[in-house]
Amino acid sequence: MSPINWSPSSWQDKTAAQDVTYPDPEHLSRVLGKIKQLPPLVTPSEIERLRHQLGQVQRNEAFLLHAGDCAESFDACTQQNISNKIGLILSVSLILIWGARLPVVRIGRIAGQYAKPRSSAVEKIGDREVLSFRGDNVNGLSPDDRTPDPERLLSAYFHSTTTLNYVRGLLSSGFASLHHPRDWSLSHVRSPGLKKEFERITEGLSDALGFTRTIGIGSDSVPYERGGNKSVLGEVDFYTSHEGLMLNYEEAMTREFALPDSGNLPEGARPTAFYNTSAHFLWIGDRTRQLTGAHVEYFRGIRNPIGIKVGPSMESEELVRLLDIVNPDKESGRVTLITRYGATKVEKFLPGHIAGVQAAGHPVVWICDPMHGNTLTSASGLKTRHFGTIISELTACIRTHASAGSRLNGVSLEFTGELTEDGFSVTECVGGSMGLSEEQLGLRYQSFCDPRLNFEQSLDVAFLISNHFKK
Ligand code: PEP
Ligand code: MN
Repeated sequence: MSPINWSPSSWQDKTAAQDVTYPDPEHLSRVLGKIKQLPPLVTPSEIERLRHQLGQVQRNEAFLLHAGDCAESFDACTQQNISNKIGLILSVSLILIWGARLPVVRIGRIAGQYAKPRSSAVEKIGDREVLSFRGDNVNGLSPDDRTPDPERLLSAYFHSTTTLNYVRGLLSSGFASLHHPRDWSLSHVRSPGLKKEFERITEGLSDALGFTRTIGIGSDSVPYERGGNKSVLGEVDFYTSHEGLMLNYEEAMTREFALPDSGNLPEGARPTAFYNTSAHFLWIGDRTRQLTGAHVEYFRGIRNPIGIKVGPSMESEELVRLLDIVNPDKESGRVTLITRYGATKVEKFLPGHIAGVQAAGHPVVWICDPMHGNTLTSASGLKTRHFGTIISELTACIRTHASAGSRLNGVSLEFTGELTEDGFSVTECVGGSMGLSEEQLGLRYQSFCDPRLNFEQSLDVAFLISNHFKK
């Protein structure tokens, strides 16, 4: 099932943008050898199930929520941070379900989102020039700890495992149950309006779910890997993702398995495929999507559903060629295009991209990332994003799709449920119903990477999308 002339290591013959150079290659090989022996984090069945559900998203039968931190850090791998993040993803998805009247497929930027692409390999700190921080799985944030260390890849594996283990535990113990949405850490949302609106929705949905259960809907006979429901109220599907940037690591986590639904064929006759078992979904960043580059080469051979970031520098023709490479058989659910132009550029670039993809007949999931084209530096020097600009990119996307006979299938957000020690939301993006001003950014700015929407601002975004779909 893998493409011709492809292997998990065939990317090594191509140029990798954003490459990391390790001072001791032997040390790197030893660590990768160890990672290759470690068990998968996710399974082929789960990956197939997500592929199937993304096919439903592509056919407008479900909506996709892709969300989480810009980058996770090893230090932020705590019980409270993980449960707050899951709680926020569940809350936002519930608001979307309510508005769109569609199931929501949830993919977290979690349990492996450590590596970051950078605009420059080096940076100036005071009068020193040091290597840029590339994420916790490469080097340290401290300027004295910038030499890439392979042991950090192993640590990333274990932090991902710990995170995923806790997420699985939370979800299978009723944390996602609509009967206890208070567990989702809404207690610190200080806006009474927001809180009330959210409670109204959870009560409505809880009643509706109670009713479907009473009349026996809620379980079905579709096999698990085909998107079938496990039917337990309170158990929801949740998938993990990260940018597939560190190809050495991705290769070490790539394993060959028989396709899960080929079980009735005799051993030996079952078709196999290569699965990246470090996450259900991986995406190619806007800086590493060169047609002849190493990342595209690696991605074309894995069976996982993949995302591709699409920014203003992408030509329509290039986009179609890229789709031909990573999805030659035009399979539904395989590719999600994550557009991130900047609010003022959507109308200039999106129509051409939609037209090119439609003309080529590629089935794709279209989602809008209203964060990465709208980052700016505030007067105080902090990186920020304005709530209003985020909303305008989203609404421009919805409008542009509608007028091109297409439809926005989902959204990709950088948000956090992280709280300060005294229980307050972070202050990294400007605006929203809490009216955060530029002067207030410094109060509780915690991100070491891109600025994230806080809990209240994320619910605000969810309500805006939800209300739009309700119309
Ligand atoms: C990201 O999603 O954090 C990111 C770096 O995005 P992009 O590749 O679109 O710039
Ligand atoms: Mn980011």
